[in-house]
Amino acid sequence: MADYVNTPTFAAILMKPIQEIFSLLQQPHKVVITTHQKPDPDAMGSSLGLYHFLIQAGHSVTVISPTNWASWLNWMPATDQVLDYELNRDKCDRILDDADWLFCLDFNIFSRTKNLTSKLQQLRCTRILIDHHQQPDTVNFEYGISNTGKSSTCEMVYDFIVDSGNGSKISSSIAECLYAGVMADTGSFRFPAASAGVHRMIADLKEKGLQHTKVHENIYDNFLESRLRFIGHVLLHRMEVYYEYNTALISISKKDLLRFQVKTGDTEGLVNYPLSIQGIKLAGLVIDRDEERKWSFRSKGDFDTNGFARRYFDGGGHYNASGGRSSDSLDKTVQHFLQAMKENSSVLQ
Ligand code: 5GP
Ligand code: MN
Repeated sequence: MADYVNTPTFAAILMKPIQEIFSLLQQPHKVVITTHQKPDPDAMGSSLGLYHFLIQAGHSVTVISPTNWASWLNWMPATDQVLDYELNRDKCDRILDDADWLFCLDFNIFSRTKNLTSKLQQLRCTRILIDHHQQPDTVNFEYGISNTGKSSTCEMVYDFIVDSGNGSKISSSIAECLYAGVMADTGSFRFPAASAGVHRMIADLKEKGLQHTKVHENIYDNFLESRLRFIGHVLLHRMEVYYEYNTALISISKKDLLRFQVKTGDTEGLVNYPLSIQGIKLAGLVIDRDEERKWSFRSKGDFDTNGFARRYFDGGGHYNASGGRSSDSLDKTVQHFLQAMKENSSVLQ
C-alpha cells in the first residue's frame, strides 16, 4: 500500500480519498484526462499511463492537453490520440461537456491549464486530482490525492493502478509512460524523492518487461543539432553568476529563440546547468515568450523555490523546483529577480 493511505493530509481532508473511486472503476465511464500546459514527461507520461489503464478497463477516454508539447514526447504510445486544446477547442469542449469524470494530473490549480481554465471551472462532472505539487486548490476536486512526498505524478498513477488491485494489468505501454515521468522528475533518480518505493516500482516495471534504456534515449538523445548549439550559446553568453548570493541567472530573449529556431521542449532542463557550479544554491531561468516572461527556479538544500515563486513571480511548484511568470519586459523582470535575490540574501548566503 502506498504511504498516503495512512497519512491524511489537509488536502485529503477536503477531497474525498481517491480510494473511493476504486469500486467505480468496474463500470464504464466517459473520462477526460488533462494536465498542465506545455506538458513535460511527467505530465504526458502520467496522462497516457492512466489512459492506457482506463482504456483496457473498458472506459471511453480522451486526453486533452491545454497546449502543444515537445515533439520528443511523441514516442509515447498514443500521443497521436491526445487532443491539443488550442487546436481543437470545439471538439474538446463537446467531449468535456459529455464527460462523467475529469482526471487532473500533475498540476495543483486550474490556472496551470492556461486557456482551458475557464472551461474546467464550468464543468459539472466529477473532478479527480492526482498531483504532487504544494498547496493544491482542493476545493475544485471531489476526489483526489495530493502528496508532495511523491517523486512524480507517474509514481502516483502507478500507486493508483496497484492499490486498486490492478497491478497485473500494467502493460509495456503503461510501464514506458510511467517510467519516463519518474525518471524526468527525479533527475534520473538523483533527487531525494527517488525513494526506496520508487526503486521498487521501477523493479516491478522491469519485471513487467520495461526497456528503460529505450526510454532514456527517447527523452535525452532525441534533439536536433540546433538545440545543442542553442545551449552552448546560452551558457556562454546568457548566464550570469552572482557568487556573493550563490545564485545564477539565465535570461533568454525572443531574438535568441528565433535565431536558434527553439521549439517547445528545447529549453527543458536548461535551468539545471547553473546548479552544477560549485556552491550555487539558486538558479533562475527566464524566457521571453510571446504572451509573458516565463520563469523556472531550481534550488539545492534549504532554499524554498515554491515560496519564492509564489511571492515574487505569481507561480509555485515544489520546494526545490518551481516556476512562475511576469507581464513585465525581460529587462524589468530580470531586475525584479535581482532585487528578490538580494532580499533573500540571508537564506542564500
Ligand atoms: P518548470 O520549471 O519545469 O516549468 O516547472 C517546475 C515545477 O514548477 C513543475 O513542477 C511545474 O509544474 C511547476 N510550475 C511551473 N510554472 C508554474 C507556475 O506558473 N505556477 C505553479 N503553481 N507551478 C508552476
Ligand atoms: Mn510532476
